[in-house]
Amino acid sequence: MSVLSDETPAQTSIQSATPGDAAGKFSGPSNGSPALHQSTPLDPAAATQAWLESVPQDKREKSDAYFEGGYWLILWDYVVAASISILMLSSRISARLRDFSERLTRYKTMRVACYSIAYLLLVYVLSFPLNVYENFVREHQYGLATQGFPAWFREQLIGLGITLIGGTIFLVVLYAVFRRAPKTWWIWGTGVAVVFSFVLLFIAPVFIEPLFNTYKPLTKPEISEPILVMARANQIPVKQVFEVDASRQTTRVSANVSGILGTTRIALNDNLLKQCTVPEIRAVMAHEMGHYVLNHGAKLLTYLGIFILIGFALTRILFDAAVRCRGDKWGVRGIADPAGLPLLALIFSTLLFLATPLLNTAVRVTEREADAFGINTAREPDGMAEVALKLGAYRKLNPTPLEEFIFYDHPSGRARIRMAMDWKAANLSAGESPKSDSQNPKQTGE
Ligand SMILES: [Zn+2]
Repeated sequence: MSVLSDETPAQTSIQSATPGDAAGKFSGPSNGSPALHQSTPLDPAAATQAWLESVPQDKREKSDAYFEGGYWLILWDYVVAASISILMLSSRISARLRDFSERLTRYKTMRVACYSIAYLLLVYVLSFPLNVYENFVREHQYGLATQGFPAWFREQLIGLGITLIGGTIFLVVLYAVFRRAPKTWWIWGTGVAVVFSFVLLFIAPVFIEPLFNTYKPLTKPEISEPILVMARANQIPVKQVFEVDASRQTTRVSANVSGILGTTRIALNDNLLKQCTVPEIRAVMAHEMGHYVLNHGAKLLTYLGIFILIGFALTRILFDAAVRCRGDKWGVRGIADPAGLPLLALIFSTLLFLATPLLNTAVRVTEREADAFGINTAREPDGMAEVALKLGAYRKLNPTPLEEFIFYDHPSGRARIRMAMDWKAANLSAGESPKSDSQNPKQTGE
């Protein structure tokens, strides 16, 4: 579900860009306003530094601590997931669960469904303490969460329900592939995984997101119109911009694009609406439009397919090797045996964990593309910088290059501000350069 929903990006600065562009375009020698935009040229590095230094030390330390804590959570999430898998295999809980489902029914599909529901529930319960810390306690510690425990837990149960339904259907189909193609399942399985991801993306805005939040058309024309103008200029067929009540769950400023094909929807959250100026909002929404125009849904789905194909190919080799060594001990008969699901999960989550930098980089690079599209569309370098600072409330602003490579699924605040300042320093004009004017009138238009 999160492939496309991103915490937002940043770009904005209509107010500063518009006068600048106008000056660049129209201020010929006859226009007697030389001083307006001819002060010292902007030094992008110094300007970036000045933006970063505008953040108070205590705020910076808090957001750094929050984000760096997230590095460790990647490790703990993996350790907990791996431990659950190992526990289920070595204690033979998994084998017993399989035996139980075999006694219950003679239909293979029903056996897989029965095993899957028990497995997904068990994993949820065993990882619940870490879940509570990571997504409830810690979010409150840093002032990012707005829900009390009952409301939070209610949404957890809804999420669990969706996981049980979607996860069981997925596993039933996957195990049908395992039974029919025990040697080449990794190829067909990739197809199944990609189709499921596609369906999830497609139905998310219609069936899943409304279970957690209310999306309604943004009615204030002073905000929606400057956004729709950018959409029209970029051939985006939207008539409405949506507002989502994210403040139900969080204080984060964010926007997102969700859905694919006919269900694509661009939405901004109410925190953004409350905390940001129109230039900042334009910057953010232009970034989101970049995801749409640049076809990032299809692109990320393709990347995902490639990652899954490689992951499944390696999983096949490792799974067979593990079953040869330990299959008897764990009571796992082979790939088509549901009792091997924790082993599959163990292998696949290990590969995912190791691939963290690659996955983050693939996403970060597409986010950077959306940033570049956004700055050229919104033309709001200062707005983009402002929003980058606001996003700095939950993402470390100034990481080392290695940190950014490993952990960042969006460009860092520093990288975004630098992009904005580079753009501002380039001082692009909106029309053709004055030098080409002499040639232009002679060409007939077509
Ligand atoms: Zn984005």
